[in-house]
Amino acid sequence: MNIDLSGKVALVTGASRGIGRETGILLAKAGASVVINYVRNAEKAEGVKNEIINDGGEAEIFQADVSVPEDVKSLFDFIRDKYKRLDILVNNAGIIKDNLLMSMKLSEWDRVIDTTLKGAFLCTQQASEMMMAGRSGKIINVSSVGAIRGGRGQTNYASAKGGIMSFTKACAVELAPKGIQANAVLPGMIVTDMSTRVRKRAGDKILERIPAERFGEPRDIAQLIVFLASDQADYITGQAISVDGGMSIS
Ligand code: NAD
Repeated sequence: MNIDLSGKVALVTGASRGIGRETGILLAKAGASVVINYVRNAEKAEGVKNEIINDGGEAEIFQADVSVPEDVKSLFDFIRDKYKRLDILVNNAGIIKDNLLMSMKLSEWDRVIDTTLKGAFLCTQQASEMMMAGRSGKIINVSSVGAIRGGRGQTNYASAKGGIMSFTKACAVELAPKGIQANAVLPGMIVTDMSTRVRKRAGDKILERIPAERFGEPRDIAQLIVFLASDQADYITGQAISVDGGMSIS
């Protein structure tokens, strides 16, 4: 099965590293023009863009904090001016600020919810307007197994990622008649900067809970996202798909 995204325009949020980076690269390999959003590290984002262009693909970078409405507006104005369309939105940007419930600061709660949930809402609202005009589009939201398994010290993160799952379903119902599909992907423990500390601290214990007996790679997630972004996935919407080597069912 060949996935061909030529002529499509994709936006990946938080794409200067990790899962977002790999997703941007694979979407471009499949033929999409990709906007690499980043919040701080312009150099890394430029590196992703260069890798795509050196491979014969098309990419742009754009700085925006997805939790800030004005930033999101500028990001989408850029896409409107440059491409006049958006076919694929990957809401990938996310952070962790772990703390036990009784110690959690309001700022830790707000930051995680704002980046993940408010960020996805702001981007999806903007993207949907453009997608509705073309009566087609794919929205892929990166949730987490943390949405369906409680995680110690992660009341903020679990709430944000559970919210993303529910948000995806509600969007899917509203957007299906407009030809737009929305799905959530739930990564397990993936080898990226975000999971470094927890893998170092409790890696062996976590591995015992993964039937596949390995951590995931960003590519494991990105490949599913590319499929969900393609025409082959036109009849899949509102789903929450775990990619976790069996972690959530063991
Ligand atoms: P990562 O920390 O490498 O990537 C997260 C990216 O989001 C970074 O590039 C960061 O700069 C960006 N970002 C953070 N705040 C932002 C903001 N306000 N605006 C724009 N970008 C912002 O980690 P990752 O593992 O690649 O994470 C990607 C997604 O996958 C996240 O949503 C994360 O919650 C989710 N996830 C990761 C794992 C894992 O084990 N690594 C597991 C489940 C879910």
